[in-house]
Amino acid sequence: MSDITVVEAGKLNLPETTFTGRHLIGGSWLDSSDSATFERLSPSHGHVVSVSANGGATEVEAAIMSARKAFDEGVWKKMSGKDRSTLLLTVADLISQNRNRIALFETLESGKPITQAKAEIEGAVDIWRYAAALARTLHGDSHNSLGGDMLGMILKEPVGVVSMITPWNFPFLIVSQKLPFALAAGCTAVVKPSELTPSTTVILGELIQAAGFPAGVVNIVLGYGDPVGSSMSTHEAVDMVTFTGSTAVGKKIVEATSASLKKVSLELGGKNPQVIFPDADLDQAADAIVFGVYFNAGECCNSGSRIIAHEDVAELLTEKVVELSRKVPFGDPQDPRTQVGAIISEAHNDKIAGYVKAASDAGADIRLGGQALEVPGLTGRFFMPTVVSSLSADMPIAREEVFGPVLSVLTFTEFDEAVSLANSTSYGLSAGVWSENVHTCLSFAREAQAGTVWTNTWMDGYSEIPFGGVKESGLGRELGRYGIEEFLETKSVLMRIGKTRAAWVQK
Ligand code: NAD
Repeated sequence: MSDITVVEAGKLNLPETTFTGRHLIGGSWLDSSDSATFERLSPSHGHVVSVSANGGATEVEAAIMSARKAFDEGVWKKMSGKDRSTLLLTVADLISQNRNRIALFETLESGKPITQAKAEIEGAVDIWRYAAALARTLHGDSHNSLGGDMLGMILKEPVGVVSMITPWNFPFLIVSQKLPFALAAGCTAVVKPSELTPSTTVILGELIQAAGFPAGVVNIVLGYGDPVGSSMSTHEAVDMVTFTGSTAVGKKIVEATSASLKKVSLELGGKNPQVIFPDADLDQAADAIVFGVYFNAGECCNSGSRIIAHEDVAELLTEKVVELSRKVPFGDPQDPRTQVGAIISEAHNDKIAGYVKAASDAGADIRLGGQALEVPGLTGRFFMPTVVSSLSADMPIAREEVFGPVLSVLTFTEFDEAVSLANSTSYGLSAGVWSENVHTCLSFAREAQAGTVWTNTWMDGYSEIPFGGVKESGLGRELGRYGIEEFLETKSVLMRIGKTRAAWVQK
């Protein structure tokens, strides 16, 4: 452990009180009908961060019917894009004003470093502003050349009531990739954050209330996947479910929504390859690889955890990565020096360790780390920066989502072999290519089965650029103008504007 950079526990910055989370239903903050609650303990420090109302069928029913009423009878969908945009911009300003409070709870509940949490809240502000701009661009299309006196109009309309189910790894950012786009489109929503990170979504609800949204447009139900998320997926009054989380639960959502054929968008897991060709700038690549695998403790759908390096450079690259890995500060999430914080739960820490042990038992070489990390002064769960080489591509560690700070290094000799290895998992979220040759980069980008391909970089994201996966990494796209398309239906209106219709029945 001595060769790993550890940030020991510093002074704990705690809010004045434990956060109390309630459901937001029809514009009111409510406890559960049976008064049930659940606690969230800090994964790094172990204290109680929040106590939230634990919802069930009663709360889901009330929230969905409130969203239904707000959509069918309220002003929201008829409001001008300009007015919706103004409200979204107000939320963006309020998020910005409250960024420190939001970042604090994001850190306390998820275990991520405070500096990273702050950057994510800033990113969310930009997304709300971008979606606000899109609200004013909503338009369809027309056809004036259909012949005769026919006019064709293609209208864009909001899908309706949307259930939004989000995970724990980027709670505030992910709800911000869904909610403002749905609202910009004119939809109403019921949001369920992860039971592990409910509080920042509740704060978002407070800000939405403060901005002056009509009651029922945004509802929040707190609680567990089953029953809250599952009822939100089957309810007949819901028109669409947008889900971010594991592929296993994504498949359940598809099953749950199939009876009523709801629209579904899914952002799921990934096991993302980065291919390093021999002409790549290895120092740049090594730095980006270290960022890509340790960012958010590897608890990241975009974790670039599957390195596929050319035989000629694999060893040198691995040495550089190991060397840099030792310098990444792991430890107290509240210390601004920390770049990698706590693992979300003890069970998850054990799961990560299990992947590494299985690889080691099967003959892989553990080049660094491989075990739980003790951080002096903290009771929480941490995992060492871990680099594993001498693997075969069919080992679970090399093909499944480990969701921890664990890098697998595979090797190749020919371009086609690299492509085939990169595409050889069930996932297709993102991929990367490192080469000084633009033809190599673009040839790989065209062959990669992935929603995003980064070339000579990793994990850059912009509000303007769509994000999503292929294969078992998802359906649909978030962000960019595609982000609002997901929440729109297309209606064709055909109109004869004269009296030229030829009679079908001859008189
Ligand atoms: P998860 O699938 O366990 O849970 C996600 C959400 O679904 C939570 O709110 C949970 O309560 C809810 N849920 C659980 N069971 C449900 C059910 N039967 N019906 C409806 N809802 C249910 O995922 P997680 O552990 O919170 O998050 C980690 C996963 O999310 C990883 O696989 C990661 O790759 C993925 N992820 C993907 C993206 C992306 O954009 N592609 C982004 C972040 C996370």
